[in-house]
Amino acid sequence: MQNGSGMPVEKRSGVPASPGRSAGPVVHMPPRVPEPATSRIEPDAVDRAASAVREAAERVEQDLARRAARATGTAADILSVTAAMAADQTLAADAAHRVRADHLTPERAVWDAAGAVATQLESLGSPMAERARDVRDVRDRIVAVLTGAPPPGVPDPGHPFVLVATDLAPADTATLDPETVLAVVTARGGPTSHTAIIARSLGIPAVVALGEAADLAPGETVLVDGTDGLVLVGPGAAELSAAGLADGDDGRHDGAGPLVRRRRSARDAFDGTATTRDGHDIDLVANVADPAEADAAANAGARGVGLFRTEFCFLGRGTEPTVAEQVEAYRAVLARFSGGRVVVRTLDAGADKPLRFLTPDHEDNPALGVRGIRTAVDHPEVLDRQLEAISRAARAESTEVWVMAPMVATADETREFVAACTAHGLTTAGVMIETPAAALQARWLLADAAFASLGTNDLTQYTMAADRDLAGVAALSTPWQPAVLDLVRVACEGGAVHGRPVGVCGEAAADPLLAPVLVGLGVTSLSMTPRALAAVAAALRQVTLDECRDLATSALDKPTARAAREVVRDFGSGGP
Ligand code: PEP
Ligand code: MG
Repeated sequence: MQNGSGMPVEKRSGVPASPGRSAGPVVHMPPRVPEPATSRIEPDAVDRAASAVREAAERVEQDLARRAARATGTAADILSVTAAMAADQTLAADAAHRVRADHLTPERAVWDAAGAVATQLESLGSPMAERARDVRDVRDRIVAVLTGAPPPGVPDPGHPFVLVATDLAPADTATLDPETVLAVVTARGGPTSHTAIIARSLGIPAVVALGEAADLAPGETVLVDGTDGLVLVGPGAAELSAAGLADGDDGRHDGAGPLVRRRRSARDAFDGTATTRDGHDIDLVANVADPAEADAAANAGARGVGLFRTEFCFLGRGTEPTVAEQVEAYRAVLARFSGGRVVVRTLDAGADKPLRFLTPDHEDNPALGVRGIRTAVDHPEVLDRQLEAISRAARAESTEVWVMAPMVATADETREFVAACTAHGLTTAGVMIETPAAALQARWLLADAAFASLGTNDLTQYTMAADRDLAGVAALSTPWQPAVLDLVRVACEGGAVHGRPVGVCGEAAADPLLAPVLVGLGVTSLSMTPRALAAVAAALRQVTLDECRDLATSALDKPTARAAREVVRDFGSGGP
């Protein structure tokens, strides 16, 4: 393969993580800003150094305000809050004082001043303690200006770009702006890692587990194919055209700026319902993480929520949110679905989503450690306060509220969780089935639980013993694995014993090819990123319930994930 200038086009394979294709220049995520050494300056340099602090703080504020004005949604909100923090004179004044009093370099003075402010905020407890993280972010940005280091966080080169990173922290993914980030490429992560889930929810094409991501040269044009997991370096007209990017909807290549091509997939309409060809209803609902996502879900036509990931409202916090804060966050989500149903998941803290106030600092194997419902053993009061908040929010809104616990493995955990919910007047309490133990024991768990929801991301991770964030085992991480499908079958059979609904809220639910198989296995609801609702509803309209069952039987009968997928894919072209 050669591009227009006769240079060979290099094709690299990763793991598809968020569908879509776009092309643009590579921009790397910058490394963390290092802590400056404690060094001193000469007395005659003090005045210049003190004004350098103020100028750097001003520059940071202006830069953030400019970015906030251009950004959209959550990214705009976060940038505006950080800009306001940078505009506050307290930090710069304290740093300038330290320069004068102690003759510290401006960068060290800023570091120390920010440390003092952050510690003070933390000592005040929630909600002020939460500002400490913003102070440290502003600190890093000012230090970067003073030392000439690249500013931290998602870069802002002034034009749309392909973001390349080793991996993205949850706080960074929150500032991804789909208007400027054309695609995401990471060296780490798997298809169900949180970077992948967030890219999908924002509609940003993503390829993860691309081992050589760090070698992509800054500024080089790449074509990212998030559907097939490919990255083409230096694509020519032929490759752009084959990818449907010959004249992307905001394509430009005027010689002045970098080539930027993107094609937004036309969104099919979703009317809130889904039915098989023979009229069997399937509950199709949305996964949300906060009020902004609840808005997006309602706007996409979702009439309910099958998974409200509450921990995302509080990621990065050093202290437990108060009951009042929780009530406010939960009500904002419930209010968007008046008359509908929202399934609220209690905090799934731990592993890739640590919450400093709840999860242990260090575990050798956090995915197998104290996460999800297991945190309630040492901190029953945190679960108790969360249930109290959910209960108050439910009473204040006219939304049907179901509650479920993550990472359940035993019938005892189920019984205790249901009892705790009942004590707070939460009468529809269920469990997530994310461990093989829970799937195999479903008939016991569902004797107490009112419903179950299969978290196929973790169920796949634990069934295949393949870390969902680890690139090296990403090929194993697919819910098409017949072993995973078999556990889905067993879980559904366990629910049927008691006439209890069993849904899926992992990423498997968003795969239009897999959805009919899940329905055939006995799944009663599918909860997914709002972007996938229309495509999954369309796929279900093509098949009857009996065909779904035949597809499930055929997929279960295959020895490999690939063969299972192929037998279902070939169905439409005259297969089973
Ligand atoms: C899952 O594991 O499938 C799930 C929905 O939970 P999370 O992705 O938040 O771990
Ligand atoms: Mg999970």
